[in-house]
Amino acid sequence: MADAVIAHNYSPLPVVAAEAHGAWVTDVEGRRYLDCLAGYSALNFGHGHPVLLEAARDQMARATLTSRAFRNDRLGPFCRDLATLAGMDLVVPMNTGAEAVETAIKVARRWGYEVKGVPDGQAGIIVAAGNFHGRTTTIVGFSTDEVARRGFGPFTPGFTVVPYGDAEALRAAITEHTVAVLLEPVQGEAGVIVPPAGYLAAVRAACTQHRVLFIADEIQSGLGRTGSTFACDLEGVRPDIYVLGKALGGGILPVSAVVSTAEVLGVLTPGSHGSTFGGNPLAAAIGSAVVGLLETGEYQARARTLGERLRNRLEPLIGHGLDAVRTRGLWAGVDIYSALMSGRTACERLALRGVLAKETHGSTIRLAPPLVIEPNELDWAVDQLAEVLQEGSF
Ligand SMILES: *Cc1c(COP(=O)(O)O)cnc(C)c1O
Repeated sequence: MADAVIAHNYSPLPVVAAEAHGAWVTDVEGRRYLDCLAGYSALNFGHGHPVLLEAARDQMARATLTSRAFRNDRLGPFCRDLATLAGMDLVVPMNTGAEAVETAIKVARRWGYEVKGVPDGQAGIIVAAGNFHGRTTTIVGFSTDEVARRGFGPFTPGFTVVPYGDAEALRAAITEHTVAVLLEPVQGEAGVIVPPAGYLAAVRAACTQHRVLFIADEIQSGLGRTGSTFACDLEGVRPDIYVLGKALGGGILPVSAVVSTAEVLGVLTPGSHGSTFGGNPLAAAIGSAVVGLLETGEYQARARTLGERLRNRLEPLIGHGLDAVRTRGLWAGVDIYSALMSGRTACERLALRGVLAKETHGSTIRLAPPLVIEPNELDWAVDQLAEVLQEGSF
């Protein structure tokens, strides 16, 4: 079969998707599945959201790619609206999340040299253990996941890893050459790890005190998932740089962005950074439509109420097959008894019952359905999980 020609950098569940609408995916045999992964939050608004599809169709009929060598009439409005949503001044449009993280790293380093006055070549960036920021060589170089790193060195220097959730350790790692701290406000791929209350505020304070940029990688946590536009909002914290992606493309195209102040993004000059596809009119039109959906607050509110429902349904399973549950909005990390089954096995059993979910590692699975899911559908998904746990290890 044709799939034999696909390189093995994934190990997909045996479900062959053919169509998807809202929170539901249909496979080639016509079986329906409730999507509880939502493209790792790229599908926050569900599959084929009518407003986003209409924006894409309209724009496809007008212009799709013009290149940044010329201006296009969609990019300015998109960047203005996204900057307003984030309360920032400037936007660098990119495509994938990893590219946006790379952009933030480049900008922070240049800001360090030109604005903070760090000696050339000495800029340091502090990151957290358990991080996931993408797959480029620089980014996997500061990953703590051996599977992501092995065989890909030599790696880019200039990164220091500290434990996640420990503000004192982070503060102690700051030197006069530190230009930035790069963190996920909630670690998604690590298993929806929510840091202790006050952590992000303490990081903010340390960054401000030492004139270090706080870069929040909100590629997975941002744009509605946690019940707020940004996960940082939940802690009342404003970073210096937001890194956005995933849901920004509405599940249609890869659209990412770095959003920050004029002081920080002002270090970019013509020729110093760019992207063939970044900021193309189709991506900008879709991004604008996504910002429009978020401006209503409707999706953030859904994530809050549905998230509370999800937490209330999952917590009774602690002690009945689950060791722990962590939630932030409509986003849950669920630790299954490791002796009972692996996360992979749980996801295979869930798929047989019509629920698509993905393990993060070990016996931890992530539940992150589209924010358009209905309450009864959410209940049904948790019921399927409860039954998988009850079946036990066979
Ligand atoms: C998915 C993700 C990325 C990488 O995004 P890609 O579009 O896959 O390159 C970076 N950071 C976080 C927090 C992510 O969840």
